[in-house]
Amino acid sequence: MSEFVKEKRFKTRSESGTLAMGERVSEMLLPVPKMIVLRGDLGAGKTTLVKGIAAALGAAEVEDVTSPTFTLVHEYKGAKVRLVHLDLYRLESERELLTLGLEEMAEEPDVLMFVEWGEKFLSVVERADGEIAIEHAGGDERLFLVRLKR
Ligand code: ADP
Ligand code: MG
Repeated sequence: MSEFVKEKRFKTRSESGTLAMGERVSEMLLPVPKMIVLRGDLGAGKTTLVKGIAAALGAAEVEDVTSPTFTLVHEYKGAKVRLVHLDLYRLESERELLTLGLEEMAEEPDVLMFVEWGEKFLSVVERADGEIAIEHAGGDERLFLVRLKR
């Protein structure tokens, strides 16, 4: 049996399509706090989706959202939501993860947290409120599966 109670599929045909879709996806993710794992290969569109969501929530301009691959955490403060964007690609152990203080961040009442490569860590998958899986569907097409536990 699936642990997910809410499921929705989206399809886009371009980068700008994914940016625009941020609005519909962000509506699904309210109210906060929530922690969402973003799954998908390199170049799938995880960071692009976060850009679209940040813009939709008024937390940041599209061009100001950049990949936190090296810095691990980026934070953007909106009027109602604090968007926290993590990329765990370079992290290798649960011990390293602990030093990031992810648990503490996730407990802030206004936080909407997106964790790229979060599926690498069982503690993140268990703690997460859901996931968005992105697949290449040929050319610039991408399929998005949003699944929420609550
Ligand atoms: P990830 O964070 O998953 O590694 P990015 O969002 O950084 O991926 O990069 C996605 C890349 O794919 C960008 O170069 C973007 O221009 C391109 N792209 C092409 N089609 C799409 C689409 N439909 N949605 C999102 N990105 C797309
Ligand atoms: Mg990325």
